[in-house]
Amino acid sequence: ILTLGIETSCDETSAAVVLNGREVLSNVISSQIDIHKKFGGVVPEVASRKHVEAVSNVIQEAVDKAGVGFKDIDVVAATYGPGLVGALLVGLSTAKGLALSLNKPFVGVNHIEGHVSANYIAHKGLKPPFTCLIVSGGHTHLVYVKGYGEYEILGRTRDDAAGEAYDKVARAIGLGYPGGPLIDKLARKGNRYAIDFPRVYLEEDSFDFSFSGLKSAVLNYLNKMKMQGIEVNRADVAASFQQSVVEVLSEKAVRAVKYKNSKTLCLAGGVAANTALREELERKCSMEEIEFLYPPVVLCTDNAAMIACAGYYEYINGRISKLSLNAIPSLKIGEKYLE
Ligand code: ATP
Ligand code: MG
Ligand code: FE
Repeated sequence: ILTLGIETSCDETSAAVVLNGREVLSNVISSQIDIHKKFGGVVPEVASRKHVEAVSNVIQEAVDKAGVGFKDIDVVAATYGPGLVGALLVGLSTAKGLALSLNKPFVGVNHIEGHVSANYIAHKGLKPPFTCLIVSGGHTHLVYVKGYGEYEILGRTRDDAAGEAYDKVARAIGLGYPGGPLIDKLARKGNRYAIDFPRVYLEEDSFDFSFSGLKSAVLNYLNKMKMQGIEVNRADVAASFQQSVVEVLSEKAVRAVKYKNSKTLCLAGGVAANTALREELERKCSMEEIEFLYPPVVLCTDNAAMIACAGYYEYINGRISKLSLNAIPSLKIGEKYLE
């Protein structure tokens, strides 16, 4: 079964052709980062317009690179949420139009479930159940994946997402956008124990997260140093901030695996690209004899191959969407709408 996946939830226009859910024949990603950089973040209206300009070419390129024709596509899958409503509508409408004209089923995909599914592409033998730490630009969740497309939410952030904290702290120390990869790089030159930023664990036993206090602590530290006329060591700030994030995420993730008695932990979302987080989870999981899996960087950040994969499993589990399906900007993980 050939699935054409389309992703336009934020600032990447992407299309991919995936065979039987797991074999990527093409994964074309056109990023708008250079345009949004000037504004220090994604400008929704600009994002929608750029998606409109790019989407047809990106889809054509994905089909060409896969070496197939449109008539060979069996299922058309597109992200319908969560994300920016104007951006989502571009990929969603295009996918519905294509499905209608090709007379093939259309499947709406949850973007966050797409991030989780990147692991199925990277690890051909991976099957549910497993535990997954999802850390992206807008979401932070600890979930137990019961089956394909079936999730038990163990914990979530109560305020900022992990990626959001990275981007905000990066801005505060004068790095560009998006800040996550830049902090990752700068932190390698810093001392992670230089500044004692808080570790927020919330209630004992809670799998929830909170990153806004940490963000405030970094901002307060920067202000205090500025008032005292002391120049901050940005690499130390980056490394110390990152250490706090990584310790809390990894501690809770490993505790969740033990709580569910599962053997495997997967990492998903843009922040899954973070080298410090990967290293720490690698270390903690090997001590606990937990299998630890994560996708390659290109499958961690937004891409349509993960959407095609998630769409394939929705399709073979009978969840086919109607063409009346609308974009749902605040769609929750595991929530299913078919019309
Ligand atoms: P969501 O998936 O929640 O809707 P999004 O699609 O905007 O949000 P992703 O593309 O999944 O988010 O991830 C982007 C986020 O990942 C950004 O916040 C970015 O800073 C962060 N990120 C990317 N690479 C790294 C890295 N190496 N270290 C830390 N953060 C990173
Ligand atoms: Mg993006
Ligand atoms: Fe994303």
